[in-house]
Amino acid sequence: RVKEKGKAHFQFYRSEMNSLISNLVSLETRLRKAIERKELILHYQPQVDLKTGNIESFEALIRWDSKELGLISPGDFIPLAEDTGLIIPIGNWVIEQACKKIKEWGIQFQRDFRIAINISPKQFHQPNLVKTIKKCIKKYHITPSLLEIEITEGAMQDTSETIPILKGLKELGVTISIDDFGTGYSSLNYLKQFPIDVLKIDQSFVSDLHINAKDAAITTTIIHLADSLGLEVVAEGIEKKEQVEFLLKANCHKGQGYYFSRPVSEKEIKEKLLY
Ligand code: C2E
Ligand code: MG
Ligand code: MG
Ligand code: MG
Repeated sequence: RVKEKGKAHFQFYRSEMNSLISNLVSLETRLRKAIERKELILHYQPQVDLKTGNIESFEALIRWDSKELGLISPGDFIPLAEDTGLIIPIGNWVIEQACKKIKEWGIQFQRDFRIAINISPKQFHQPNLVKTIKKCIKKYHITPSLLEIEITEGAMQDTSETIPILKGLKELGVTISIDDFGTGYSSLNYLKQFPIDVLKIDQSFVSDLHINAKDAAITTTIIHLADSLGLEVVAEGIEKKEQVEFLLKANCHKGQGYYFSRPVSEKEIKEKLLY
């Protein structure tokens, strides 16, 4: 009896697995077509100078507006894109869009805005990254430092490849930042060896810094570290006024979070933020 039960259970499991697999396959097929169907969109979240309150830059954050599945957040498809290699064409599309918007907004608003894009580990380690970015900067005639490349500590771990790639990026003149700083395998050695321009304090430290002494201490220390090394520092995930006040006192340069604005469409930037 027990055996039979086990078997039935196994069959159930197997059919579940099959539908799971076919769902994944169709998800991959759909994602593969997403670019040509123009279903990928970028939203932009402002980064604010904490002292002046002015918008200095934006982070581009991808969304997939699927005809069949609705709006999908990056956490739900970037891992699949990484596993299937689709991150390369998707990432190239993001690079191109960012360069294009840097150019367009510069003309339209008569001032420069930096745009930060997220580069995932596989994309970072592909051999053509530097060449692709170089081509795009040339194509749109933009000031290279206005393009910011966000990389996580995880992507930087294999140091033998990491140094030449980062050097290549540095030679182009783009801005290089470490995203989610403090949550990965943080080695201070990176900061010594790599040509980094910006540290982004992860939102896990920011969200409770006004009520948690440890988060406050870590945040203050990252700001001091950035300051001593001559790096810019940005706090992510700011939702409350108390957090802004703390960060201002600690001399954090920039802030990003729902307190200032959610990530918004280009249309909303023009209508609500930069009118
Ligand atoms: P991230 O780069 O660390 O981006 C910050 C995330 O925090 C974004 O989520 C943003 O919407 C969210 N956020 C911003 N302010 C607040 C706040 O005040 N409170 C809270 N709770 N959250 C806030 P999102 O857009 O869902 O993106 C998630 C992650 O997906 C990003 O984390 C990034 O790692 C990845 N991602 C986004 N766009 C791209 C892309 O174009 N390419 C790649 N490779 N990865 C991307
Ligand atoms: Mg980011
Ligand atoms: Mg982050
Ligand atoms: Mg993150």
